[in-house]
Amino acid sequence: MRGVQKHFGDLHVLKDIDLEVPTGQVIIVLGPSGSGKSTLCRTINRLEPIDTGTIEVDGKELPSEGKALAALRADVGMVFQSFNLFAHKTILENVKLAPTKVRKLGKAEVDKTAKDLLERVGIANQADKYPAQLSGGQQQRVAIARALAMNPKVMLFDEPTSALDPEMVNEVLDVMTSLAKEGMTMVVVTHEMGFARKAGDRVVFMADGQIVEDTDPESFFTAPKSDRAKDFLGKIL
Ligand code: ATP
Ligand code: MG
Repeated sequence: MRGVQKHFGDLHVLKDIDLEVPTGQVIIVLGPSGSGKSTLCRTINRLEPIDTGTIEVDGKELPSEGKALAALRADVGMVFQSFNLFAHKTILENVKLAPTKVRKLGKAEVDKTAKDLLERVGIANQADKYPAQLSGGQQQRVAIARALAMNPKVMLFDEPTSALDPEMVNEVLDVMTSLAKEGMTMVVVTHEMGFARKAGDRVVFMADGQIVEDTDPESFFTAPKSDRAKDFLGKIL
């Protein structure tokens, strides 16, 4: 992202954002409520339009519409706080839907990939159930498998564990940790500081629509430079 600006009406939510996410890195985005973390994520695949600036994914500038945008969105996997699974489709069908429609892959290939992914997130034995029959943690793991089914180049996570009961948080973080270890490029908004410290290559701290610090997790947690970051850490640690 280079020089990205965005307003909601009079509210300046992204102020001259420059952010590079190198292949294979895990970027943790932290910051107080309302600082623009979700908006930042949403602009990356144009769920939110920007006012000015440029955003490139895999070296290609974001197209604003049409087929090119659909292709780009397929490269950017997103996992939100709410899982948004299709209630009337089984777990396996949920994972198979997008690659069938968007990637136009063959049936057998889609089926195998989907089953492998469910295996990878530890719920292969739930494939024929419906979302409501799964726990929140299991549903979120399905949501991750569904995003991975498109074989994305980068995965965005916006507070993926915030809506979960505490005992289910770790099973989702474990899946994310293995993804990170396998070399997936990830942008993760989270309040899970243990995960941030262990899995993050970099911490980007936002306040008031600006990137205030961009450093390695150890430096951020042990020696934050800005008063905003010190204040933020004082409240959450
Ligand atoms: P949180 O930690 O609470 O999720 P956040 O850092 O993700 O916060 P954003 O959701 O990006 O913050 O919101 C940034 C600012 O933009 C907030 O002031 C919010 O009220 C405002 N905002 C977000 N979405 C919209 C919208 N669709 N229309 C108008 N204002 C919006
Ligand atoms: Mg948010």
